[in-house]
Parts: sequence; structure tokens; C-alpha cells
Amino acid sequence: MSAAQLHITTGLAPISVYSPYDGALVGSVDATHASEIGELLALARRGAQLSRNLPRHRRASILECAAQIVERRRDAFAETIVREAGKAIVQARKEVLRCINTLKLSAEEAKRNAGEIVPFDAYTGSERRQGWFTREPLGIITAITPYNDPLNLVAHKLGPALAGGNAVLLKPSELTPLSAINLVEALREAGLPQEVITVAIGGTDLGKALVAARDVRMVSFTGGFATGEAISRSAGLKKLAMELGGNAAVIVMNDCDFDKAVEGSLSGSFWAAGQNCIGAQRILVQAAIYERFRDAFVAATTKLQADDPSHEDTDVGPMISQQAAERAEAAVNDAIAAGAKLLCGHRREGSLYYPTVLEGMPTSCRLWHEEVFAPVVMLATFDTLDEAIEMANDPEYSLHAGIFTNNLADALEAAGRIEAGGVMINDSSDYRIDAMPFGGFKYGSMGREGVRFAYEEMTQPKVICINRG
Ligand code: NAD
Repeated sequence: MSAAQLHITTGLAPISVYSPYDGALVGSVDATHASEIGELLALARRGAQLSRNLPRHRRASILECAAQIVERRRDAFAETIVREAGKAIVQARKEVLRCINTLKLSAEEAKRNAGEIVPFDAYTGSERRQGWFTREPLGIITAITPYNDPLNLVAHKLGPALAGGNAVLLKPSELTPLSAINLVEALREAGLPQEVITVAIGGTDLGKALVAARDVRMVSFTGGFATGEAISRSAGLKKLAMELGGNAAVIVMNDCDFDKAVEGSLSGSFWAAGQNCIGAQRILVQAAIYERFRDAFVAATTKLQADDPSHEDTDVGPMISQQAAERAEAAVNDAIAAGAKLLCGHRREGSLYYPTVLEGMPTSCRLWHEEVFAPVVMLATFDTLDEAIEMANDPEYSLHAGIFTNNLADALEAAGRIEAGGVMINDSSDYRIDAMPFGGFKYGSMGREGVRFAYEEMTQPKVICINRG
């Protein structure tokens, strides 16, 4: 049993973690059973008291010290991401750097955002009242995370929650629990009292119990739509934050910096083997440069190295499992049957699915509207910006979008009218830093991450008012 896990003996078979690339056993962790929810909550209730009583300087120093521990062990953290999630090593290193940054931002937030003066004297009759509001912890937060960024997405929940003085019941993806456990160990080594984060490892039944528990004040979830819908049905009266999927469009205008548009769209499409919620799924290219862009993009795609994720020159590692790769393959087969034309890729070896580019996708096809979460991208063409914006806005949910253009008016027109939580100008949809507000528009989007914004979601204002008589 890892030190970061619960000290409860479950009698359950441990959960084995296997490499998505070659099926090798990476590690084994004790499973937590949903019936242990009472013990989990008892720990978390103690944790909530301990956490709210940590002075802000102490919360900050724990987070800062944990960031330094992760920095010292960055190679081991990156290797764990490669082994349990199959992310290419160069990309795994970037995830570790982002996690360090997320923890540092959280340390700063712990000291910064404590409340505000309320202008009581702005109201007639309240001239002799004076006061302020503080930001108080919510109490116990259930945090549920997916497999694709197994370290930094966990840091995005733990950092702001701790900065705000909360306790966390953390359920990382059962496919990739090791990075999360290592991060919690770093926080404990940095001085965080044991009970403040309770790590529970398991799947759907455990997740349901953690969501439904009455003492939990907020569920902070990152994952797929179906799970988000299930959580919203079972949560009852508590705050929900939902970071769900995307189906990002990137618009490429005739007047763009061509090479930059090809390079940016390529990375945006295939980063993390396309298992990226803000990855480009639809690239919309203006008619005059469509053929030139298509040829350059396909040529660059076929040069990408799809291989062992531990190799330094691998661009595209495996998908999380063979089943996930088979699902991607089936979705592309359906699209081809519906009339799409395959330009490259669509080859599968076990969990490795080669970067795939399609064009001529009928917009009635599921792949056009739904998240594929795989190294699959569709090219389409348009004549006017109005048309492109309409196409970008087609799906019923959206996280980010991008536009490549040298025309400021077009860039701002698109930024204003695209319905998304972020519009990146002269970058692909997948540009993100950890300090910015992050979240979706339209169906299913609730709340924002990005350290300061998650901190605000994870704290509640309390007004204090003095009547001077
Ligand atoms: P998933 O929804 O299958 O699982 C996510 C987590 O939910 C896992 O820990 C899982 O065990 C848990 N879970 C499953 N059923 C549950 C239930 N009924 N109650 C409570 N918990 C339950 O997602 P995944 O396949 O791990 O991740 C891929 C998805 O995550 C994609 O849709 C992707 O777009 C999304 N994602 C979103 C963001 C974002 O910030 N918006 C970031 C990364 C990934």
C-alpha cells in the first residue's frame, strides 16, 4: 500500500496498472470499496477542520514546498506519466512543468485572494456600517479526474482546494492512479496533514458513493459527458464543477502565416495522441489555400513518429487502451462509409492508432458533432468567415477554438462570435496556461478551472458587517 492511500484494509484485490503501450505491469494499488464511504468521510471531516485552521502562510508554504519536491523528482514524475498513461516522454515532461506551475500559482493564491471590503456606505441608511467579506472553505470536496493528464489535472483540483482551506476526497482515474498518488505523497512530505487529502482508488461504484455523500459540499469533475450526466443525477444538493469534453475547430484564413498555421494545427491535433480535451478536431480552411494547406498538413502528419512513448523522438504514443484505439478506428470507418475521404493514417497496431486525417466529412456525421478524443482530425473548407464561424459553432458543446489570420478585424469578429470558453488567435485551440480561466460554453459546462478561478469556485464568501451605531 502506498503511504498516500487510505489506511483501511479492504480485502479487495489490488488494482493493477498496465502500460497502454506494451501491457507491462507498471504498479499495483489497493482498491477502495464504495462500502467504505463512512470511513472516508470520517477522515475527510477531520481533514476539513485541519485544513481550514491552517494559516494562509502555511497553506502557501506547503504548496510551494510540494512544487519543489515535484521539481526535484521531475524525471520520475514524467516517467510515471509515460508508463501509466502512454504519453510521449517529451509531452510528459511538459505536463510535469505545468504541474509545478499549478502548485506555485496555488501557493500564491492562498495568500492573495482573502476577500474584499464591502461598500456599505453606498446605500442610504448604511453610512455607519462598515465591513468586508472573507473567502471561506466549502469543507469537503470530491475531486474526480480522468486519465489523459494524470498529474496536472489532479494538481488543478488539489492546489486551489488546499489554497482555500478545504479537504479533498480524491478519486483519480483507476487507469492512471500512480501520478496522483505520487503528487499526494509530495504534498504530505511538504507538511500537509494526512487527513486533508484522502485518496480513494476505484471505478464507477466508488465514484458514485463519493459524489452522493451528503457531507460533500462540491464535486469537481473532469471527464466525459456521460459521466458528467451521471454525476449530476446522483449528486443531490451540492455544488458541481464540470470540465467535460470538446470538439474544437481551428479556422485557417487565406491571409494567415501559412507555416505557422500548419505547424500549430498539427501539434494541436495530435498532442497526447489526440487525447486532449482542447485538441483540434476540425480544421476549417478558407477556399483559396485549402489544397495547399491540405497537402502540407498531410505531408507533415505522415512524418510524425507514432511509437514507443519512452522514445525521445516519439510524437504520438499509444491511446490509453486497445479498446480506445478500436473505438477510434470504428468511428473513422463509419465516417468513411458516410462519405468522408481518408487522407492518411487509420492504421492500428494494438493501442497505437496512427495520426489520421479526413476530408469531405458530411456534417450530418457523428464524428463532426461528437468528441473523438483520438488522433483523428477532419479538414473542411469554407468561403466566408461567417460560414466558418457557423461551422465552428455546430456542436452542442465547446471548450476552445482557434483562428489563424493576419487580419485583426476578422480575428476579433471570430473571437466575439465563436461560442467557446477560449478563442486562440494565431494559435491552435489547445493553447492554455494554468493561470487563465478554463472551461466550456454551451451544454454541460459548469464552473471554471485555472487556479484563481477554481479557488473562487472552491471557496464561499462570508460577509462581516459592523454597525457603528
Ligand atoms: P470518464 O468520464 O470515463 O472518467 C473520468 C473519471 O470519472 C474517472 O475517474 C472515472 O472512474 C470516474 N467515473 C466514472 N463513472 C463515474 C460515476 N458514475 N460517478 C463518479 N465518477 C465516475 O473520462 P475519461 O475517459 O477518463 O477521460 C476522457 C474525457 O475527459 C474526455 O471526454 C475529455 O474531453 C475529458 N477531459 C476534459 C478536460 C477538461 O478540462 N475539460 C480535461 C481532460 C479530459
